[in-house]
Amino acid sequence: MGSNPASRANRLLRPVAIPIQIVGAGIAGLACAIACRQLGLPVGISERADGPRPEGAGIQLSPNAVRALHTLGLTPALRLHATEPTAIRLRSLASGASIARLAAGAYFKKKYGQPTLTIHRAALQAALLARAQALGISVRWGEGWSVDGLEGRAPGSAIIGADGLWSAVRPLVPEAQVPRPTGQAAIRGLLHICPNPRSEMGKEITVWCGHGAHLVGYPLNRQESYGFVLIHPQLPTMESGWSSPVSRACLGPVLADCYPMMRDFLGSVDDWRGWPLYAADPLKGPAALCAGRVALIGDAGHAMRPHLAQGAAMGLEDALTIARCLADGDPGRPEAALSRYAALRWQRIRRVQQRAERNGRIFQLRGAMGHARNAVLRLLGPSLMDQPWLWGEGQEEPAFEAT
Ligand SMILES: Cc1cc2nc3c(=O)[nH]c(=O)nc-3n(C[C@H](O)[C@H](O)[C@H](O)COP(=O)(O)OP(=O)(O)OC[C@H]3O[C@@H](n4cnc5c(N)ncnc54)[C@H](O)[C@@H]3O)c2cc1C
Repeated sequence: MGSNPASRANRLLRPVAIPIQIVGAGIAGLACAIACRQLGLPVGISERADGPRPEGAGIQLSPNAVRALHTLGLTPALRLHATEPTAIRLRSLASGASIARLAAGAYFKKKYGQPTLTIHRAALQAALLARAQALGISVRWGEGWSVDGLEGRAPGSAIIGADGLWSAVRPLVPEAQVPRPTGQAAIRGLLHICPNPRSEMGKEITVWCGHGAHLVGYPLNRQESYGFVLIHPQLPTMESGWSSPVSRACLGPVLADCYPMMRDFLGSVDDWRGWPLYAADPLKGPAALCAGRVALIGDAGHAMRPHLAQGAAMGLEDALTIARCLADGDPGRPEAALSRYAALRWQRIRRVQQRAERNGRIFQLRGAMGHARNAVLRLLGPSLMDQPWLWGEGQEEPAFEAT
C-alpha cells in the first residue's frame, strides 16, 4: 500500500539477459509493454507516429477483451470512458424489424465475469498509454522501424512486432500471413448526440443486416454520442489508412435500402470517414506468428475482418500471453518463449478469423437466403449469438493480477 505503481514495478524488475523491444504503440503494443512490465520484464517500445493520434472511431470490447484490460489495470479507466450496452441485437436494414437479441449487461457479468463495452479507440489508446507511463514505461515517439537494419537496431533483443496492418517487422517472419484487400470498406460516422438514448437503439449494439452491406451502431461516450460503421463494397477512391473522407453521395445505394428513420439518422451524419478492409488468410500454424527471436502480435500477425469485433481483443490476448511466456521462459532463450506464445495462440486466432469471415457473409445474405437467416435467428437467436468459446475464460489466457 502507498507506493506508486511505477516504483513497485521497478522494484519487481528482475535481471534478464535479453531485453524486449516492442515495435508499435497501438493497442497491442502498449498492452504488451504493460503486461511485460507488470511481470518485471525489461521492455522498450518505439512508435513511428510523433505522438498519440486521436484518429479512429468506436471499438467494441467483448468480455474477453475487458478481462484482458482488467488484468492490465485498466478497469478504472474503462469506468470513466467506456459505455456498457445492454444487449446485442440484429435488425433488418430494410424495415428496422428486430430479428434477434442477446442480453448483455447483467447476463454477461454473471456468465463471463465481465461486461461488453464500447469505447472510442483514441480513448482506449490514451488510457493504455497513461497506464504504461504510470508503470515507468516511456514510448520512443517518432521512431519508425524499417526492415532494413531492423536486426542491427536491437542486437540480441527479443523483437515483438506490434506495428499493425502494414507491419515492417512482418518480413522477418517468413511464414507470416500478409493482409490483402477484402474488396469491402468500413465507413464510419459519429453522431454527436445519441439518438433516442432511452430507446433500445440508444442502449444496445445493433447490427442491421442488408443486401450486400451491413450497418453496425452503438452508443459511445456514456451515451453522449453514437457511432455507425457501415460495411460496404469498396469505394474506388478510398486510400489505405484510417481516415479517408467519404462523400455522402457514395452512401446513396445503401441509404436507398434503409427504412426511413435510419435514412434520417444516417443523413444527419455530416462527416463520414472510411478505410478499405484488409484481412489475412487464417493462420496455418504457429510459424505464422514467430521466427527465432521475432514474434508478431495484433494486426501485424493476424489482420482479420471486423465482423466478430475481435481485432483489438485478439491483440490484447496476444499481449498477455506473450508476456507470460517470456516471464516463465529461460531469460537467455527468448526463441523458446516466443514459440510457446505462437503455439498457444494460433488455433484460437484462426478460429476467430474464420468466424469473422463467416459472420460477414451471414450479415449480408440476400433474397431467399436472407429470409432463411432471419427465420433461423428468430428461432434460435440468443443461442447462436452467444459465444462462450470466445468470450469465456480461455485456457490459453494466462491469469495474473495487475500490480
Ligand atoms: C490511427 C488508427 C485508427 C484506428 N481506428 C479504428 C477504428 O476506428 N475502429 C476499429 O475497429 N479499429 C481501428 N483501428 C484498428 C484497431 O485499433 C486495430 O485493429 C486493433 O486494435 C489491433 O491493434 P494493433 O495494436 O495490432 O494495431 P494498430 O492499432 O494499428 O497499431 C499499430 C501501431 O504501430 C505503429 N507503427 C506502424 N508501423 C510502424 C513502424 N514501422 N515502426 C514503429 N511503429 C509503427 C502505428 O503507427 C500504430 O500506432 C485503428 C488503428 C489505427 C492505427
